[in-house]
Amino acid sequence: MTIPDVTLNNGVRIPQLGFGVFKVPDGETAEAVGTALRAGYRSIDTAALYANEKGVGRAIAESGIARDELFVTTKLGNSAHRGYDSALAAFDDSLEQLGLDYVDLYLIHWPLPARDLYVDTWRAFEKLLADGRTRAVGVSNFQPAHLRRLLDETGVVPAVNQIELHPWLQQDELRAFHAEHGIATEAWSPLARGTLLDDPVITAIAARLGRTPAQVILRWHLQLGNVVIPKSVTPARISENADLFGFELTAEDLAAVAGLERGLRTGPHPDTLN
Ligand code: NDP
Repeated sequence: MTIPDVTLNNGVRIPQLGFGVFKVPDGETAEAVGTALRAGYRSIDTAALYANEKGVGRAIAESGIARDELFVTTKLGNSAHRGYDSALAAFDDSLEQLGLDYVDLYLIHWPLPARDLYVDTWRAFEKLLADGRTRAVGVSNFQPAHLRRLLDETGVVPAVNQIELHPWLQQDELRAFHAEHGIATEAWSPLARGTLLDDPVITAIAARLGRTPAQVILRWHLQLGNVVIPKSVTPARISENADLFGFELTAEDLAAVAGLERGLRTGPHPDTLN
């Protein structure tokens, strides 16, 4: 299986399909990530908040896959989102947990606007990038106003904004902002945590194509150009979610899925999480 890459604004390439590990207990993470790596995934999305960076690191070490064939993302946790020095210390801690000497992508997990520290924090990210300790830097859950401040007040445009995005929350405004500024859109909870799988529009397309609802939704993301990071601890689903490259949705299918927008979030709103 060949997973296509998306080229980020600094030339680094990220696989368009990755594997998410939110809510996977640390003790079960190495097994899930190992299954994903054997199924062909090469990109793993973890975070300090998930408390499973150690398990991710163990799976990587045990996989025997060359480090430069992998793409590892982790994120600055909210408790360490306290400005420049705190971000640098948290990064060191994540690397130690992962057992790696660099990551491929480091993200500010949430903007936490009431703290008003994301600009100062971003300056630490610029330093980590300049020092080669991460190959790319980005953000997560940033709204247009938060991105605008980074663009206006700092020197590095985020490579990625990882946001909640699925057919019930299509994020047209953010996607347009990203396209205008060369920021890659990465979709978290791409399956709306599994709640979208019974949607009749999705199940009808799946039945016609002889595919599963999850495959239809993930294929929709890929055809939109999103980077996508579905999570599963179930081996059959891990494989199913990576089997996306032998079929296509038609223009009519894409239009039908576009019609599912309903502004529905499964997670917190970035303007009010602090
Ligand atoms: P997803 O939309 O990926 O859905 C995961 C759920 O769907 C799990 O319950 C899983 O069950 C189920 N599932 C997965 N594949 C299938 C399938 N083929 N058929 C049926 N059910 C399936 O939700 P997540 O919230 O986990 O999002 C994905 C990743 O995005 C996270 O793991 C994390 O890496 C990232 N994320 C980032 C956030 C951020 O703030 N930046 C916030 C939330 C997520 P099971 O595991 O039991 O198989």
